Amino acid sequence: MSLRLELINTGTELLLGKTLNTHLGFIADSLFPLGIRIARQLCVPDGAVIGEALRETFGRADVVLVTGGLGPTSDDITRELVAELLGRPLHRNEAIVAGLQAFFAKRGRPLQPENLRQADVPEGAEVLENPFGTAPGLYVPGTADTPHIFLLPGPPRELRPMIPADVLPRLRAILGDSGAVPETMRQVRLFGVGESEVANRLEAGLAALAGLEYGYCARPGEVELRFIGSESALDAAVALAKSTFPVELFAEEDISLSQAVVALLAERNQTLASAESCTGGLIASRITDVSGSSVVFHRGIVSYANEAKVELLGVRAEDLAEFGAVSEPVARQMAEGALWRANADHAVAVTGIAGPTGGSGEKPVGTVFLGLASARGSTVVEKHFYPTDRLTFKSMIALRAIDLVRRRLMGHV
Ligand code: AMP
Ligand code: MG
Repeated sequence: MSLRLELINTGTELLLGKTLNTHLGFIADSLFPLGIRIARQLCVPDGAVIGEALRETFGRADVVLVTGGLGPTSDDITRELVAELLGRPLHRNEAIVAGLQAFFAKRGRPLQPENLRQADVPEGAEVLENPFGTAPGLYVPGTADTPHIFLLPGPPRELRPMIPADVLPRLRAILGDSGAVPETMRQVRLFGVGESEVANRLEAGLAALAGLEYGYCARPGEVELRFIGSESALDAAVALAKSTFPVELFAEEDISLSQAVVALLAERNQTLASAESCTGGLIASRITDVSGSSVVFHRGIVSYANEAKVELLGVRAEDLAEFGAVSEPVARQMAEGALWRANADHAVAVTGIAGPTGGSGEKPVGTVFLGLASARGSTVVEKHFYPTDRLTFKSMIALRAIDLVRRRLMGHV
């Protein structure tokens, strides 16, 4: 048996762009280990449309989760709409009333008559305790004509604990012994290659693997490949991705490029320094986003002006004058100067033209040199061209610089 589960998120604010619908991701993530996926999700404003949306799932869904609209205000009418739709009377639950009274007494606030609606329970429904708020959740078991229905509160801090505590155990029971086989997901991440090239070079091989479901997700600078299937299919898919993109593949788990680099440095017991011009410290920022980075990253230098490159890194003033700040020799000297001054194992340097001004015919906006010096190993300088807006340039180039460190640690440069 496999369950068809649908999710209805209610709340006008979700459709006005005022609140991000975070329930979808949280619930989807929580369900996956049970082998249940959300078959369909609908977001509707407050009001009678909630009842319509729910009715549409009848005869199609086995389980429907409805979030939001259980509060005390006039726009919170999910409970009433569901009772009406199912033709079940609402009964005031005295235990919930007592809980509400205690909740308000503890806070020294008067219990409002509006709050009492939260103690109304459709006949045959189970009350799901809400330790973080006044509105309990409700579970209406399914019948021949209607799906199992869960009504859950809107506030994330109230809803989130109720998923593992109240929803998952009931879903397990509904799945029963003949439950869906839990699925395993694995992901690999690649840097420095476009989504279409990844697809072009992997598609045929992935399509030939039996029992594998796969998908691509492009993010700034990286492509994530998602595999779902049996262990053997997952192993084969990961092996194929690795052999096709031995340089670009940087992670076989859900980690960022910076996390991967910090882990590699820590494994090798090595340190990194940075010397940044056009990225303005973003490399240092990305690296220090990673908890534990202090072990491998001791200093970063932002040398924006020419004088700073001379004073802080020992770049030769004559070379700055002859070749310009955005040049191969300057990137090289920045990296080597940072390496020597920080006494690090590796130093990465960036000098480029972020724009929109400052470009020339010879060095247009988007021109950038990345330098990497290592205590053991020769210095490399790469020239890249990445014309875009200023902020995108900064963040992409910071990532490319971090990736250059990764490629050195992997022995590719
Ligand atoms: P409600 O119980 O529907 O009135 O929701 C109470 C609060 O929870 C509102 O302030 C919403 O902003 C928040 N909320 C409701 N639904 C969601 C959702 N799907 N994702 C994130 N926050 C939500
Ligand atoms: Mg609401």
